[in-house]
Amino acid sequence: MMTLKQAMTLDNSELENLKKELRLKIEEKKYLNAYVGLEESGSGVPILIKDNIQVKNWSVTSGSQILQGYVSPYDATVISKLRNANLSPFGRANMDEFAMGSSTESSFYGKTLNPNDLERVPGGSSGGSASAVAGGIAIASLGSDTGGSIRQPAGFCGVVGLKPTYGRVSRYGLGAYASSLDQIGPITQNVEDSAILYDIISGHDPKDSTSSNLENLPTAKNLDPLKKYKIATVRNYVKDASIEIQKAYDNTVETLRKLGHEIIDVEMPDSKYDVSAYYIIAMAEASSNLGRYDGVRYGRRVEGENLIDTYIKSRSTGFGDEVKRRILIGNFVLSSGYYDAYYVKAQKVRHLIKNRYNEIFKIADMILLPIAPMLPFKFGEKSDPLQMYLSDIYTISINLAGLPAISLPVEWVGKLPVGMQLIGRPFDEQTILNGAFGLESALK
Ligand code: GLN
Repeated sequence: MMTLKQAMTLDNSELENLKKELRLKIEEKKYLNAYVGLEESGSGVPILIKDNIQVKNWSVTSGSQILQGYVSPYDATVISKLRNANLSPFGRANMDEFAMGSSTESSFYGKTLNPNDLERVPGGSSGGSASAVAGGIAIASLGSDTGGSIRQPAGFCGVVGLKPTYGRVSRYGLGAYASSLDQIGPITQNVEDSAILYDIISGHDPKDSTSSNLENLPTAKNLDPLKKYKIATVRNYVKDASIEIQKAYDNTVETLRKLGHEIIDVEMPDSKYDVSAYYIIAMAEASSNLGRYDGVRYGRRVEGENLIDTYIKSRSTGFGDEVKRRILIGNFVLSSGYYDAYYVKAQKVRHLIKNRYNEIFKIADMILLPIAPMLPFKFGEKSDPLQMYLSDIYTISINLAGLPAISLPVEWVGKLPVGMQLIGRPFDEQTILNGAFGLESALK
């Protein structure tokens, strides 16, 4: 598949041909189940959109039954920005229901397959976006990352995923999961395309009250693969990963050293609390955000005997098990008797995590971590929700701290890719893009 950079040089008739070819390829690889809808809108370079980003007149369902029948009345800010740059939304990508998951197994539309090994998960929750780019049936796509949902599926499929700094990309029009953690970002074939798409979708938006109005310089034209940095490694943190991941980590460190970067090993204490803090905060916010799906305002309704009964029937049949579990836990941790014990404590831990990263960024420009403690796993392998949550250990703290991070494939174990991420200071996407660009070039 041609890259985004190449596609952006095509004229209108070439773009039409490209789309024709793309439709055929999508049909050929239907078995991946990466697309849940083939809606198109506009004549620009086709970009696949995760099913939780609003595109005017499209059915947008967050991978859920409860949103069947809902048609979006407006464009998310990122979609308006795509259109302004002569890019256009093309197809809806499968995802875990309401972006809750790490494997895309919880979608109402069924699982998405990993194109590298059809028996394995593509990661999640943006599994459709990553599988399509890796499978050669999308030039580039948009995903969302609340606790790793761009970086981990990109890593599991062998493509590049960027989670921007919190506040850098507008969340206006993104179906909210956990509002203090969610960010939209690109999933692309390479680092340069990532920078190009990031430049297009980022920037201040008055429609999102958490959007930053700090200066937003273009990154793609300033990409510098030769710049040398101080890169922190966290060996005590990586020892919990599988042998393959540890080996890939060590090899990546060696490559970075050879490229002329200075490697500084740091310790990260208290990592065992990251998963608990993340899930308490994410579920608390989700329980509140999902209150709006009541069978009255959006999508599918199951008529009951009265209003309350309609709410109950619509929600009980419209949400899947994982979403219900999170709404229950979210309400529990916010309830008056437990608020201090769980929610307030989790917020304190979040503060400590942020401080922990601040300390590291006093001595290093970026941090190298794996995207997951193991290779892409088989379908059904993590049927215990807690095991699934624990697999997020390397990605979730970055969202809790609001930092930017980019994941890229660094090596292959058989046919399975290993992804690593570079994490940067807030609003310093340029540095991690430079680091990733240099690393990608060295690995070619
Ligand atoms: N796996 C994490 C969760 O289930 C992250 C999901 C995401 O980033 N949307 O919450």
